[in-house]
Amino acid sequence: MRLENGGALGVAVAALAAPVVALGAVVVAATVAVAVNRAAHAAEALRRRPCPACGAAIRVEASGCPRCGANVPVERRIGGGAGGVLRGR
Ligand SMILES: [Zn+2]
Repeated sequence: MRLENGGALGVAVAALAAPVVALGAVVVAATVAVAVNRAAHAAEALRRRPCPACGAAIRVEASGCPRCGANVPVERRIGGGAGGVLRGR
């Protein structure tokens, strides 16, 4: 056995593996980007509610439906912090 052969083999393996590792990094980065995008969409979906008239997804703070134009009662958050708005009277 010659050490030179082993060294050359190691270099060859490293040269072959480098693109694979780089590709793997790109795939991982793309996967993470997709996951983050989905999480953002999910968070956005949580901030929406269905229009009582047509069922379209509208923003929680919206007072009207942009699709059918129906007036939507503004949803008020119940629970912790409730009453803070009217404090002072
Ligand atoms: Zn509507």
